[in-house]
Amino acid sequence: MRSFRLSLLPIVALVAAVLAPSPAEAQRVARQFQQYVAVDAPVVALTNAKVIDGTGAPAATGQTVLIRGDRIEAVGPNERVAVPADAEILDMTGHTVIPGLVGLHNHSYYTGGNGRAAQLSFSGSRLYLASGVTTIRTTGARAPYEELNLKNEIESGRAIGPSMFTTGPYLTGEQGSQTMARLDGPEEARRLVRYWAEEGASWFKAYTWISRDELGAAIDEAHENGVKVTAHLCSVGYREAVALGIDNLEHGLLANSEYYEGKRPDECPPGFRNGYGSLDVDGPEVQATFRDMIDNDVAMTSTLVVYEISVPGRPPIDERVYDILAPEIAAEVRQIAERIRGANLESGIGIPPDVYQKALEYEYAFVQAGGTLAAGVDPTGYGAAPPGYGDQKNFELLLEAGFTAVEVVQIMSANGAKVLGIDDEVGTVTAGKIADLVVIEGDIESIGHIQDTRYVFRHGIGWDAPKLIDSVRGLVGIR
Ligand SMILES: [Zn+2]
Repeated sequence: MRSFRLSLLPIVALVAAVLAPSPAEAQRVARQFQQYVAVDAPVVALTNAKVIDGTGAPAATGQTVLIRGDRIEAVGPNERVAVPADAEILDMTGHTVIPGLVGLHNHSYYTGGNGRAAQLSFSGSRLYLASGVTTIRTTGARAPYEELNLKNEIESGRAIGPSMFTTGPYLTGEQGSQTMARLDGPEEARRLVRYWAEEGASWFKAYTWISRDELGAAIDEAHENGVKVTAHLCSVGYREAVALGIDNLEHGLLANSEYYEGKRPDECPPGFRNGYGSLDVDGPEVQATFRDMIDNDVAMTSTLVVYEISVPGRPPIDERVYDILAPEIAAEVRQIAERIRGANLESGIGIPPDVYQKALEYEYAFVQAGGTLAAGVDPTGYGAAPPGYGDQKNFELLLEAGFTAVEVVQIMSANGAKVLGIDDEVGTVTAGKIADLVVIEGDIESIGHIQDTRYVFRHGIGWDAPKLIDSVRGLVGIR
């Protein structure tokens, strides 16, 4: 609290850096990567579109979206939006326009197959953009400098990708993996946060084995430096983290150990979620979590897809996932997916279907209670939820959880923007905002998916989504 004035500055500077490329930069992007740019005119009119604007308002048909430079100039019924004579007009009959997605758990790296891991600065960033994800928060970095450099390259037109909010190294305890910062007390947490905040990381992610002392110190130091903390927890419960001042919580029910009877302070109980199938999401325990989060403005990030890929009995993984992976990785991922999907429920392989189902209920109940739910892909685990494609799958899984398409669009765009503090500039199809938009073939309310992206506008430049996807086919997982 005491450094409120001081911490305001870095946040303002950060938001400006993310959102304001100069027109000259935009032109440079267009020239260098012209083959992937479908629309690059000073004024563009998308006419006859169905628009789901991300505000929660019902879908509207027969709409025109007018883009001038990097901004949305107007949006409304065809007959009420005057299209200037010099506009490039795209007739979007049969298409849906939604805001660019804001992915809150969108790593710059990927893990998959039999123990493979790679930074996907080339393929991942293109795939995010081509899939409609125009802003990402990386939410746990294995290579923080690579993220900062990639962000710079995208902003200066030297690489193709979404706007990035980069993260510092994972903050965890001694059981963390080799790529994480294994903290040894609160002082180390403070030192690390200070360093990476100064280098340009805008968020930190605490992870499974962090202690309350370390988490509290990290949050405190982050806030003093104008940056924020989210967490994939286990040793600390959600209510404890909220009390320590956390800004966001990742993964919903399946990372919240506080309903496990044998939970001890600062310990991550293995298998804590196996009994969650019988949890009452309307009961006092769960509702107390929701109340704490809502009262303290702590959003929940849904990452259903990274769990769904590990649930026995679910339908096969979409073939399109295997099509974009490097062939040798695709083969490994397919083998693992088929083993899990076909596993006997008694075998203990994967996530029990009733626990997964409860995770859906938990997120739905959180929103009913008044909570802010955002979403992200988390392209980790055995690798069947790649960047972008996994975000798109979340759209379908959130529909399964009971949300309407209009609600899901809001969760995946406006709510993410709100968590990042950029909702004045992006997240909805609204006049005056940055022109980050996705044009999808078909009526997404009736087809129930957002896979067929045609154009993805970022800062007013309309990328040719199929061409971008073709440019990374067979590379995803290796570069
Ligand atoms: Zn993650």
